[in-house]
Amino acid sequence: MDDRINTLQETLEEITLTLRARKDRGKPADYIPPLAHVSPDHFGIAVALTDNRTFMAGEADLPFSIQSISKVFTLTLALGMHGDALWRRVGREPSGDAFNSIVLLEQEKGIPRNPFINPGALVVADALLARARAPRETIGEILRFLRFIADDDTISADPAVARAEKATGFRNAALANYLHSWGNLRNDPDHVLGVYFHHCAVTMSCLQLARAGLYLANGGRNPATGRSVVSPERARRINALMMTCGHYDGSGDFAYRVGLPGKSGVGGGILAVVPGVASIAVWSPGLNANGNSHLGAEALEMLSHRMGWSVF
Ligand code: GLN
Repeated sequence: MDDRINTLQETLEEITLTLRARKDRGKPADYIPPLAHVSPDHFGIAVALTDNRTFMAGEADLPFSIQSISKVFTLTLALGMHGDALWRRVGREPSGDAFNSIVLLEQEKGIPRNPFINPGALVVADALLARARAPRETIGEILRFLRFIADDDTISADPAVARAEKATGFRNAALANYLHSWGNLRNDPDHVLGVYFHHCAVTMSCLQLARAGLYLANGGRNPATGRSVVSPERARRINALMMTCGHYDGSGDFAYRVGLPGKSGVGGGILAVVPGVASIAVWSPGLNANGNSHLGAEALEMLSHRMGWSVF
């Protein structure tokens, strides 16, 4: 690794200081009531290197709702169960639409554009349910997987967030029912939604998230535990999807500014991968118009620029 790693801690502290002072913080998601109450002043960042060193600044230890970042992990799990057969039910193209849009689903006959927009993630949740008898078992399996990749048994879902998503999730319910009408859900839409809301409701800190994402930076194997999660080829492909689809209709802008595979969530978190080098998690709850963390993207832009981490 190059010399810039020696000043990584200072760099993270400088970025944190700069962004903490900013007034334009974006707006926390308000359509999920518990998220609306999170202060936009929070800021945390953690970097886990493939050589097992970790660096952090700000509130990197404070758990937050990972929301759609969980879709990277459910996709990983579903590919492990179903392999490439999963791609018959969900595509690998950016949608250019909002994460909760229904527009393309009719034109494309119930096949969502990619696994990170909500309809794609619902199909992935359905694929995960295929082997279990009940949604609870699938939720348990997802949590066990997260604990395994992060090497941390404390990770869990926040039942209040899952309940709030269910109570207000009319669009997701519409998407699930619509997918079912096209024959692209095999389980009861309510069960699929139950799994989906729970994995979105998982809480993790930046540090836990950076550690959980390390397998994507390290050819599919967690360097801390030595355990293999996916093949190097699959890790590469998940990174490709994060680069092209991980920020919905803001994916092009994120690739342009940051130059790293990344996945955002409406809780204000972003997981980014520097292949071969590091996994980064940042959290700033205020969102931009595309539902991605406003200052989170800026932090990653600064970090990637200073460290020379863009893949381009
Ligand atoms: N649970 C959220 C939703 O369904 C996740 C969206 C997101 O993080 N982009 O709407």
